[in-house]
Amino acid sequence: MKTIDLASLTRKNILRLTPYSSARDEFAGGAAHIFLDANENPFPTDFHRYPDPHQRKLKAALAGLKGIPAESIFLGNGSDEPIDLLYRAFCEPGVHNVVIPQPTYGMYSVSAAVNNVEERNVPLSDSFQLQPEAVLAACDAHTRIIFLCSPNNPTGNLLRPEDVHLLLQRFDGIVVVDEAYIDFATQPGWLPQLKNFQNLVVLQTLSKAWGLASLRIGMAFAHPTVVEILTKIKPPYNLGGPVQIQALEALTNVAKMERQVATLRQERNRLMTALAALPCVQKVYPSDANFILVQVTDAALIYQFLLRRGIVVRDRSKVAGCTHCLRITVGTPEENSALLDALRLAG
Ligand SMILES: *Cc1c(COP(=O)(O)O)cnc(C)c1O
Repeated sequence: MKTIDLASLTRKNILRLTPYSSARDEFAGGAAHIFLDANENPFPTDFHRYPDPHQRKLKAALAGLKGIPAESIFLGNGSDEPIDLLYRAFCEPGVHNVVIPQPTYGMYSVSAAVNNVEERNVPLSDSFQLQPEAVLAACDAHTRIIFLCSPNNPTGNLLRPEDVHLLLQRFDGIVVVDEAYIDFATQPGWLPQLKNFQNLVVLQTLSKAWGLASLRIGMAFAHPTVVEILTKIKPPYNLGGPVQIQALEALTNVAKMERQVATLRQERNRLMTALAALPCVQKVYPSDANFILVQVTDAALIYQFLLRRGIVVRDRSKVAGCTHCLRITVGTPEENSALLDALRLAG
């Protein structure tokens, strides 16, 4: 395994920190039946007790599903939380920096700004692939994290594995690979590489393929030491009790998720073919996700045209590298047909 000096990468205040110890930490389970330790209201409802701060049942279910030990799993309030915690754990505000190949998901930049951490942007190639030498050239002794997204949002493509591999080998800080859309992809993701790279953090989410966006559950898979650091600084009860229960129940129905993903992939392919044949479409980018980046004749005009017919897509035409582009989420078969009918009218 490639190891890195995690202790020296971690901010000193975080290393020194004694985490909050909750009532549920100091007494977890055991034989008690009268709980007078957490200042809860004793009159029972479905919600009167604090939830498990360690999300043990949910982590056990995910460990089985993903083939990753529970010690390598961190759960957050959406992916937003692990993204923010990675900054807070490893980047000293005003001192360290992160490198973000663009165009990509906006939260890495927002979180950098919130945490007063310099971001260095490196363009992806014309086919939205990494230019690993340029990424490494942007790094210096103060670079702590490289944020990669594969399949990438908003472009839809997987990053070439050789390029990600090279960055994992050559960069001695944290390499985040955000796999929010990996369930829609044709290639396996980076979870199997966790055992080879202590600097790899894989982000996944229950918001997309699993259809649980409203529950807000993001997952970070990493070396147990990294998970320990993130766990130390998270808000103790970051996932509510009903959220944990609903997620556990949803995870028992893998077949349902797989059926929906299969339909969405089919629909993605149908949409890609049909979109490419439309006069208002100039280019359909390949997609390994549940959305398609489409270059059109006039993005603002077509966006408004669709909106007047009650269909909202994402206008990405102001994003560097995505001029004239709309990002279209794959909907139900009926929704996709309605989109195509509307676009045929757009001329
Ligand atoms: C949608 C998305 C997420 C998911 O975020 P949640 O906070 O878990 O809902 C994460 N990363 C990318 C790139 C996304 O597009």
